[in-house]
Amino acid sequence: MIMNFDNPQWDDFLDRLYGPEGCNFQYDADGKPTWVCKAGNDKTYATLILQDMGLSKEEIIKSCEFFDENGGHCDCEIIWNVARHNPNCFDNETSNE
Ligand SMILES: [Zn+2]
Repeated sequence: MIMNFDNPQWDDFLDRLYGPEGCNFQYDADGKPTWVCKAGNDKTYATLILQDMGLSKEEIIKSCEFFDENGGHCDCEIIWNVARHNPNCFDNETSNE
């Protein structure tokens, strides 16, 4: 099935995209996040992970359309933008202290 908020594997997908096989998010000594992304409209990591999760070519194209519609035009934007639109997952929001 298409990878979107209704997919039971959504959280797994985000975890993998966040981790070393994807954008490899890390925090430097100043607490600033660093990550790997080719930017633009590049969804190389997301595509590879979705392929590995067994999605068909068609499903991956549809998933990428869903990411684009929610502001995820490249791999890191799927984490920055798409994830926070998830109505089922508000516990990821950080407060501005
Ligand atoms: Zn990016």
